[in-house]
Amino acid sequence: MPEGTVTVPLTVAVVGSGPSGFYAASSLLEQTAVPIRVDMYERLATPWGLVRSGVAPDHPKIKTVSGVYAAIAAHENFRFFGNVHIGRDVTREELTARYDAVLYAVGAQSDRRLGIPGEDLPGSESAVDFVGWYNGHPDYADLTFDFSGERAVVIGAGNVALDVARILCSPHERLSRTDIADHALAALKESSITEVMVVGRRGAAQGAFTTPELKELPEFTGSGVDVDPAVLADQLGEDALSRPAKRNLAVLRGYAATPTAKGARHITMRFQRTPVEIRGDGRVEEIVFARNALRIDDEGWVSAVDTGERETVATSLVLRAVGYRGVAIDGLPFDERRGVIPNDEGRIQGVEREYVAGWIKRGPTGIIGTNKKCAAESVARLFADLEAGALHRHERGIAFDPGNEIETWLRGRQPHLVTEQGWQLIDAAERSIGEPSGRPRVKLVMTDKLLDIALNRQSAATR
Ligand code: NAP
Repeated sequence: MPEGTVTVPLTVAVVGSGPSGFYAASSLLEQTAVPIRVDMYERLATPWGLVRSGVAPDHPKIKTVSGVYAAIAAHENFRFFGNVHIGRDVTREELTARYDAVLYAVGAQSDRRLGIPGEDLPGSESAVDFVGWYNGHPDYADLTFDFSGERAVVIGAGNVALDVARILCSPHERLSRTDIADHALAALKESSITEVMVVGRRGAAQGAFTTPELKELPEFTGSGVDVDPAVLADQLGEDALSRPAKRNLAVLRGYAATPTAKGARHITMRFQRTPVEIRGDGRVEEIVFARNALRIDDEGWVSAVDTGERETVATSLVLRAVGYRGVAIDGLPFDERRGVIPNDEGRIQGVEREYVAGWIKRGPTGIIGTNKKCAAESVARLFADLEAGALHRHERGIAFDPGNEIETWLRGRQPHLVTEQGWQLIDAAERSIGEPSGRPRVKLVMTDKLLDIALNRQSAATR
């Protein structure tokens, strides 16, 4: 440690245990300027955020990143405090009083709205809810989705739209080898849906999805993808398109050239259509789209322009996959338009010793790895503040908590506190339940059951 650097232990609370929370913890623990204690708070009994409850069950490779988080959690100066709801069990002020700094990595816990008539009709659902449901997130376990119709319409042309379309189209046999929630597996088995129509408001070259996700659709669903060749023929400013956009276009042209088998369950992709109304008598029966022309500006940005033409599509299930949205935290500033906490390189504006990382800092974009750089930037900001003496930590820090004061205080507030040890019991139980049927794990979705195992209240077999 260089001479002159601060040596009094630093204590940081990280709120949220998804990728950005773990990458922030990792950056904090890796630095050598000062001894450190990192306590991670999580509202649920289980860690890993969207890696557990967002990444699609048929993408197990993406989930292997959880091994990195497990390694971070094994650090001797790291503690996990699950099943603690900041704002309910513990206030924000109580946290800032006990730690030198607090870093919020709470993600984007809500969804963007379309703002059109009929959006709240039964049968018009948020993809965020659907994803939480099929991934066994306890908050969404009681939802129901109607798969009795023949066509589902997914609004949006991003990776979440493709995840949702793939799950709706995948053969049961394939899904049954994944960690998809049991309730979703059972409901999807009875599905009558034969067509999932994914609809983008701009052109085929402006899709927000990534090429590997687009390319894998036939292999994963076992069927073709129906794309209208007309919208692919002439792309505005095609020469100037980015390489990923050109690659996507090539994949879509390949799909357009390959007819899909009649009657088979399949994905249809449509572009240049904006939903303007969802209609139905008490529940969704059809959706109305405005047909769009495309316009390109001087900087090459392509936008959709309503031609005035309308198209009505019959459907009983609309899934809105138009993006996640951050939720405000009481007492902290919030940018309503962007759904983020305003910050300077991660330091929350207008307050001291509080930081953000991940989607609540920059908005719901990027892949899991994007959060590594984002969290590192916030942690660098925190250390710059420490160097500058802006954390005033000597007055507040409780150093290494030798008497476990923090844990005792938390247990007083939340007797069902889940520690790293408790989570490991859940993890082992889920994996062992999945093993006989060749599944990576069978997720336990009811909080009571998770707590039974984490707190050793009863046998894992009684799920
Ligand atoms: P996204 O990538 O931002 O895509 C949102 C889509 O919704 C865009 O096509 C957007 O069109 C459209 N949209 C927005 N508002 C709309 C409206 N009012 N009407 C019609 N369409 C509208 O969001 P996402 O799919 O939720 O994904 C979030 C992030 O997670 C992304 O960075 C994504 O790549 C990542 N993710 C990655 C994976 C993976 O790697 N496998 C899986 C899932 C998610 P415009 O472009 O015209 O705005």
